[in-house]
Amino acid sequence: MSTSHTGRAYHEALILDFVRRKAPVGRSDLSLALGLNPAAVGNIVARLIGLGLVRETGPLPSRGGARGGRPRVGVELAESTCYAGGVLFWRSGFVATLIDPKGAITGALSEKFARPLATLSAGTLRHRVLAAMGSLGGQVPPLATLLGWGLGTPGWYPRDLNWASFAADLSASTAVSRMYVANNAVAAALGAWFAGEDLLEHDERILFVYLGGGVGGSVVTRARAGDLPSFTSVELGHIGIDPNGPPCYCGSRGCLEQVVGSLVGNGECGRDEQLGRALGYGLRNLAVALDIPTVVVGGKSLWLVHPHALNALAATMGQPLKPVHVRVSRATYDMQAVGAAALVFHRYLAAATGETPGGLWPPSA
Ligand SMILES: [Zn+2]
Repeated sequence: MSTSHTGRAYHEALILDFVRRKAPVGRSDLSLALGLNPAAVGNIVARLIGLGLVRETGPLPSRGGARGGRPRVGVELAESTCYAGGVLFWRSGFVATLIDPKGAITGALSEKFARPLATLSAGTLRHRVLAAMGSLGGQVPPLATLLGWGLGTPGWYPRDLNWASFAADLSASTAVSRMYVANNAVAAALGAWFAGEDLLEHDERILFVYLGGGVGGSVVTRARAGDLPSFTSVELGHIGIDPNGPPCYCGSRGCLEQVVGSLVGNGECGRDEQLGRALGYGLRNLAVALDIPTVVVGGKSLWLVHPHALNALAATMGQPLKPVHVRVSRATYDMQAVGAAALVFHRYLAAATGETPGGLWPPSA
């Protein structure tokens, strides 16, 4: 947690994030939305302009009822000045993206391997990823800065690859100091948030679940309304739900993602209900243990399941005493790729607040 919710750096981060999402905005909009006094907003915006992070856009349309006085001048992020790169891994390939602070993709390339990631050596994978990073890094305009790279990973997959060490290797090979790792569910949640989906609209904390090749999870929290959310990776896919279930590559058996994976895309109504119940049972365990009121489910595999699965999921989660609510996220594969790169911007903003978002590597950079 932050030691101070009132410091200048913290307010700078809030203003940067608000400008990122709502630009162009006037100083009075910032003051109203963030509850800061106008003089403080003026000083902070002047400093951000001085740092080259924000620029003025020109006069904004006047609000109804406003008379006389100076016209309102809008500000926006000086987005041509900074970019972030992301590499999103899936089980047999990756997609690398370059984004601007608004989350627009300015460059992308993908690699699909003929074999699963688990059969490649770390050296081969590193070689291919470095080539992609070099190629995208070359697309950053001459006067702009590439702030760093984010890696979105399939969690414990492959079993023999330590993603934090892999990131440390990439960092050492490229002299990129800002390099962050989180699981793909964090990337999806962050990407959805970057795209404007307010995941914490109704709750101060949620469990975000991404159904892709496996089952990924992220706990999304914030201390109070208006704060930047914090995204923590959780290894949801390896919660055990059936001691007699199928074996998992992690060494256990009956893991949530093995049971769910064997039922996804089956197309049979009965199996989809079974899937919904299995997923609901596993998710409910974690949500209850962490006292999280709402689960938000998204991901490309979600669209392969029949609505019966979602009904069964909601019914399982909604059992009495302390029901867990279920919502569906709009998170898409594109948002997930953006989210991997957005790890950099989020960490950049969070660093200014003194917050330490959980689940990212390195823990303090
Ligand atoms: Zn497992």
